[in-house]
Parts: sequence; C-alpha cells; structure tokens
Amino acid sequence: MKLIIANWKMNPTTYAEAQKLARAAGVAADKNKHAKVVICPPFPFLSSTLYSLLSARFSLGAQNCGPEVASGPFTGEVSPAMLKKLGAKYVILGHSERRAMGETDEMVAKKVQAALRAGLKVILCVGETFAIRRQGIAASKKFVASQLRACLSGINSTPYSPPATRLILAYEPVWAISTNLPKPLLAKEGEGGGLEKPADVVEMIRSIKSLLSTRYSLLTTPVLYGGSVNVKNAQSYLNHPEIDGVLVGAASLRPKEFKRIIELTGKAKF
Ligand code: PEP
Repeated sequence: MKLIIANWKMNPTTYAEAQKLARAAGVAADKNKHAKVVICPPFPFLSSTLYSLLSARFSLGAQNCGPEVASGPFTGEVSPAMLKKLGAKYVILGHSERRAMGETDEMVAKKVQAALRAGLKVILCVGETFAIRRQGIAASKKFVASQLRACLSGINSTPYSPPATRLILAYEPVWAISTNLPKPLLAKEGEGGGLEKPADVVEMIRSIKSLLSTRYSLLTTPVLYGGSVNVKNAQSYLNHPEIDGVLVGAASLRPKEFKRIIELTGKAKF
C-alpha cells in the first residue's frame, strides 16, 4: 500500500474546480487497492461537499494548522481540532514554501504536537536546500536529521507526549520541488533545480527511517518522497519498498495525470 498525497497549494481558484479535482481523485482511489489517497486543498475548500466524496481509501488533509489544539486568541489561525471536525484526517506541516515565509523548526514543532494531540495524522516535511546538497549526500543527511530532531522536539520526551504513531514523514529536497526540468543532479556549478535520483531518495529515506527507529522507537513511520513527481517519474520512486508513497504538488492539479499516478501504485515492482 502506498500513500499518495495531493498538495494543491493555493489552487484551484473556484469551488467547482476543487470538486471536479476531488471527484476524479476519489474515483481513482476507490478503484485501486494499492493506494491510499489524500487530497489537501486550501482551507475554504475543506467543506462538507468534499467530505461527502470521501471513502476508506480517500481522505482529506489540510496544508497547515495553528500551534494550539483547540481555540483561543490567535487571529488568522485555524486549529487542528477545527480541521478534524471538518473531516480532515491529515495535515501537512513544515512545507518548505511555509518555511521560506518564515516558519521556523520551533514553530513547526509546536504545530506537530498540537495536530497529533488533536488526533490528526501529521505529514511532516523535511528537506535540504541546494546549497546543502552541493556539499554532498552526507551533508544532506546531517541537515535533515537535525531538522527532524528540532521538529520532533517534545515527541516521546515526557509521559504526556502526543502519540507519534500518527506521524508520516515527507522527504522533500527544496531544490527538487516544483521543477519538472529533467536536469541531472548538480548539473552545473551554482545551478539549482532538478529531479532527485530514486537511488539517492532511497538513501535519504533509509537514513530518516534509521533515526526515527533509533531515537524515537518509530519502526513503521511511513516516509514519502516529494519533489516534481509526475506521471513520467512516479513509477521510478514507487518501485522502491523504502519509499512509502509520494507527495505530489503540480501534477495533482492535472486530474488525468494524478489519476494515472494513483493507478501506477498497482504496478510497483516489489
Ligand atoms: C510539494 O509542494 O510538496 C511538491 C512536491 O510540489 P511539486 O510536486 O510541484 O514539486
């Protein structure tokens, strides 16, 4: 079983389009016993109409939440408990696009704890920048490990820790997000962007899983890959048993392509 998560980001622009996208993904999810599909629309589209499309293999998630579990004087925030009441089961936290807007590891850590306490499944995003990747895969592993430790501070540290069994990791190298250019890794000095090689993704994911098991006793936490996954390259990632699924941005807004990515889970070679 692979997890296929759609991150719609700040798209689409109308509720009708959101419904159309959700319906297409839902139909594909229901036909495929090898995939669990989660769509993460913007807050205004997390409504009861989308909720009515959901099923055992098709769930809703949010793209962010506030750092407090339930309610309070936090203008502009949406609490994880509110999301849960709306029907969301998942929430993406620590996405690099939010980190680029100023979200720190400390802020992400608070949100992770609040969301887990509220009963949501957390899709925690980690990943290195191109500047780090240029120093090599060892530097990338070190960076991702420190990001992970910072974002999981508070997990398993007290008897009141939120249950980390609802945690999912998404390894998303910042330099591989939103670029469908088939540039070879580290193509030119100083050049960012490209697709990560599946073998390198596997190496990064093994290192993340090793940290999760040794430090947090989390032996079965799914770890996904995200970074310009599309219909042409999805299979090359899904084929690896170490990669428990994919987080898909741009391609999840193309209904036929997203449907095909869901179908590809049935063809994974392992
Ligand atoms: C993302 O935003 O999480 C992502 C992986 O986007 P894209 O697939 O467009 O690179």
